Amino acid sequence: MRKIAIIGSGPAGYYTAEAALRQWGDSVEIDVFDRLPVPFGLIRSGVAPDHQSIKAVARRFEAVALTDRVRFLGNVAIGQDVSVAELRDLYHAVVLATGAPHDRPLDLPGDDLSNVFGSAAFVGWYNGHPQFTDLSPDLSGATAVVIGNGNVALDVARILTKTEAEFAGSDIVDHALEALKLSGIRRVVVLGRRGPHQIAMTPKELGELVHLSRAYPRVDRADLPPEDDDILLEPGIRKSVAHLRAFAAIPESERADRPIDIEFDFFAAPRRLVGTDGRVSALEVERTRVDKGRAIGTGETYRIPAGLVISCIGYQTSPIDGVPFDQRAGRFANDGGRILDGLYCVGWARRGPSGTIGTNRPDGYEVVETMAADQPSAGSRPGGAGFDRLAAARGLDVVRFQDWQKIDAAEIAQARDGAPREKFVTLEAMLAAAGRD
Ligand code: NAP
Repeated sequence: MRKIAIIGSGPAGYYTAEAALRQWGDSVEIDVFDRLPVPFGLIRSGVAPDHQSIKAVARRFEAVALTDRVRFLGNVAIGQDVSVAELRDLYHAVVLATGAPHDRPLDLPGDDLSNVFGSAAFVGWYNGHPQFTDLSPDLSGATAVVIGNGNVALDVARILTKTEAEFAGSDIVDHALEALKLSGIRRVVVLGRRGPHQIAMTPKELGELVHLSRAYPRVDRADLPPEDDDILLEPGIRKSVAHLRAFAAIPESERADRPIDIEFDFFAAPRRLVGTDGRVSALEVERTRVDKGRAIGTGETYRIPAGLVISCIGYQTSPIDGVPFDQRAGRFANDGGRILDGLYCVGWARRGPSGTIGTNRPDGYEVVETMAADQPSAGSRPGGAGFDRLAAARGLDVVRFQDWQKIDAAEIAQARDGAPREKFVTLEAMLAAAGRD
């Protein structure tokens, strides 16, 4: 029997489990670990609460989790409760599917001022990740600056401007909904250090901005390159740029009934955060021009008043003791998913934070093929039974999939009208719902 440990129960983890089931059927046992008592990683804590259709993929992962070859072992922190070296002794293969849960640092003077957050923290806050429940962002200022021109920046800008009614049907957590209801934000500046042709935003997500009830996107025509140049773009980006052109053409008369501006400030690199009494009050930026794809500072600087700054500039993987790490790329050092003998990585932990949820599927299937080629046959290993002995000896409170189903049912039962669930936002509440004292 082949025994596999997968660390991380997000899309990369469960697609890998699915691929291993297809590859080995009844001759594999798979343990999927998570440091939280709840599964599905990015689906629960990263995907925007108003994008429920994207979250539907969790049903596919649930089908995998419910097969008798797969166990969910939540509330176990690998690297703390159990080491990777111990797991490598127990299982034939260990797959790190830990994602990229930390913000790439902004690394600018003033980035430690209060009300400056990375997107991992801010998104975690409105999605009810227990680590960020107490973030308490102050939304009373008139201007919020969102740094970055990727889809996370769009998620954050959209969430900051939606009305309570627009969150109907979403699973935004109560503490975020209450704070957003009282928000004083009237202007969201989305800052791009390069130009419209270099954005990393996808067309569907950009298109949503014109359907908001009280906000409109604003693009300065002068920032748009000549339209003829769009032909050189890859089709997806070309569609995104078409949206930007449409935003630039919205007449002022149409804006009257939408009091919030989502203003795209291109060719603007953040340089310094300025504060008053320890709190951010402005962001200093430098005008740039793009030369051979790179943003070059022009020396011209200006300040954007800002009561809240959220940097959405990408993520990095957490290093784990004893696992080679590529500091520059912010992910595990690997060759096609292979880290060391019997140790693999998939998803963002392998590639860095790019692509959609679906990108993890081929990743998972590929790493399973690599595992099969590396170990055509599997000798005897303790696997899950060995882990259970270790967990008992250490007094670990392991949360199984059946426990998660109790948490799930309780979250669904306490949902506000029209919402799919109201999440528990602390570990204690999750464990209590799972039936722990
Ligand atoms: P991303 O797509 O890599 O975008 C990061 C942005 O930050 C880029 O515009 C980048 O600009 C900018 N940036 C990086 N360092 C910067 C700095 N020091 N100063 C100023 N700007 C800086 O990352 P993401 O938005 O975090 O998204 C991660 C992945 O998740 C992406 O693949 C994204 O498509 C995906 N995602 C998808 C959805 C969806 O499908 N609905 C939603 C959310 C996320 P440069 O290009 O100049 O480096």
